[in-house]
Amino acid sequence: MAVDADALDRWRRAGRISARARDLGAARVVAGASRRSVAEAIEAFIRSEGAEPAFPANLSRNDEAAHYTPDPDDRVTFENGDVVKVDVGAHLDGYVADTATTVEVGGTGRATHLIRAVRDALAAGIARVRSGVRVDEVSAAIESAIVAQGVKPVENLTGHSIERYRLHAGKSIPNVRGGPAAVLERGEVIAIEPFATNGAGAVENGPFGNIVRFRADPGPAAPELAPLFARFRTLPFTARWVADPSERELVRRRRRFFQTYPVFIEAGRGTVAQAEHTVLVTDTGAELLTTP
Ligand code: MN
Ligand code: MN
Repeated sequence: MAVDADALDRWRRAGRISARARDLGAARVVAGASRRSVAEAIEAFIRSEGAEPAFPANLSRNDEAAHYTPDPDDRVTFENGDVVKVDVGAHLDGYVADTATTVEVGGTGRATHLIRAVRDALAAGIARVRSGVRVDEVSAAIESAIVAQGVKPVENLTGHSIERYRLHAGKSIPNVRGGPAAVLERGEVIAIEPFATNGAGAVENGPFGNIVRFRADPGPAAPELAPLFARFRTLPFTARWVADPSERELVRRRRRFFQTYPVFIEAGRGTVAQAEHTVLVTDTGAELLTTP
């Protein structure tokens, strides 16, 4: 797959903006801060840099692994001991970068080994990336680094290839060995995202996490949704981004036009940590895109 110079320039800029938004968000996850204000600060920063959020800022806590974003009425504030995944994406003209880090509020130390496990695993996985390498080699490096900390990889969450306007394109990057045979190719952009837990090692679907996406253009079947489709196309969005009360109500009432995302909850109600970078596959290794 070839990436032309203009596309690569946008991808690199989206990567830098995502990384800075991630770090800004992580710095704001402190005891007493409201979850909604942190999500809004992340998304406002992305827009102020001339990009758009590729998906609502995910701020999943403790046994929530992914896919929670605050709704407009969210009143939750962070507490000491919360383990918060700050998962952020920005795009420029559809070139999406996706990155995450984990914060333990108040530094209580109970999740230190989980956070170390995913950071080590992310570094070990990225170190294996180059064109021609088997995806399973990357997965094995991730799994080994997590197990070395005495915790478990979350086996049913994976990294993924990214294409223009497609956050989850064709290829998966599993966090455990033994996945489907696939090889990385020069010019591919992939997100690597190990998750580690002290629970069962898998996630299950929980309640709705306030993230929706158009399945397709609703067209004449629902002309009142046309302005929303024009704005979001098939990328994920959330009610916080829809200021108009009647449009917000449409998002609630016309659910059959939307894919809705459940929060992923750890099956043994264990605590979950995550780390994620988006990288470009090259002949000699990986170019890290989500770095400030
Ligand atoms: Mn992500
Ligand atoms: Mn991802």
